[in-house]
Amino acid sequence: MLPQFNSDYLSGSYRGRFAPSPSGALHFGSLIAALASYLDAKINHGQWLVRMEDIDTPRVVAGAADEILRTLDAYGLHWDGEVVYQSQRHDLYQDVLAQLSAADLIYPCSCTRKALKQRGGIYDNHCRARQLSPEGNALRLTQTQPVYSFTDLLQGEVQLSNALAEEDYIVKRRDDLFAYQLVVVVDDIDQQITRIVRGADLLEPTARQISLFRQLIGDAPDYAHVSLAVAQPGFKLSKQNHAPAIDNTRPQPALCAALRFLGLPVPDELQHDSVPTILRWAEQQFTLQALPRHREIQVSLLNDGHYDFTRLTA
Ligand SMILES: [Zn+2]
Repeated sequence: MLPQFNSDYLSGSYRGRFAPSPSGALHFGSLIAALASYLDAKINHGQWLVRMEDIDTPRVVAGAADEILRTLDAYGLHWDGEVVYQSQRHDLYQDVLAQLSAADLIYPCSCTRKALKQRGGIYDNHCRARQLSPEGNALRLTQTQPVYSFTDLLQGEVQLSNALAEEDYIVKRRDDLFAYQLVVVVDDIDQQITRIVRGADLLEPTARQISLFRQLIGDAPDYAHVSLAVAQPGFKLSKQNHAPAIDNTRPQPALCAALRFLGLPVPDELQHDSVPTILRWAEQQFTLQALPRHREIQVSLLNDGHYDFTRLTA
């Protein structure tokens, strides 16, 4: 446990968040994740924060963060407090890394992806005792809190292989970028997030994040992974498969479609109402327990602008 952090906030009032990567405009899949976390925060009388996950600098597109914020605004998803940008928080991440290092939990690793593949794909503690220089090498965290299974509020019990649960994973990459696993957990602690509602594509890394929470503060927030919107089985909606940016000038149709995706019985006439009216209606209807529990739901955008859904995996 690190001195600067503690888990007391987890028993405090609800704080949720939406944390997009600004690698492009918001599409229908990201709207679903934003809306689910927003509505869950609202019905729990909680705060809803927005954080830009712009640490993976090569993928960040100039102007995308502002475009995402304009879209959230147009869809009535108004956030609490200041937007946090990971790219401005290097000192915080470095500080946590230094503390982990002082506790002797960090070590350099020179294994290439190719070398790992040849040794079976999972890192095998090869560099733990080698005392390499950090220069030009990745940094790994000694795993002291392996998580073999956890319970997701929507997806239920999730199991991990022992090898994956026990792996010393990378917290700083060879190219000097902080790893996603590290920054996302440090930010969630720093922002005192009590429940994480997000897309089911992030279900697999969750055990690792819970283990880091336990290493840092001895406890972890609740997780709820919402069905993922896919273009076809196994392929989430993304720029790569031509998911269009959602319309900021006429938000009602996509907003109502996203609510239908979340299982709410949206009446047809609702989409002629204002955005605040639609959201007020949604807040009266929404419960986390009633959300679909499928890992994936296939989304087709029909020619008339309507969305059609096929529930794929139970
Ligand atoms: Zn290594």
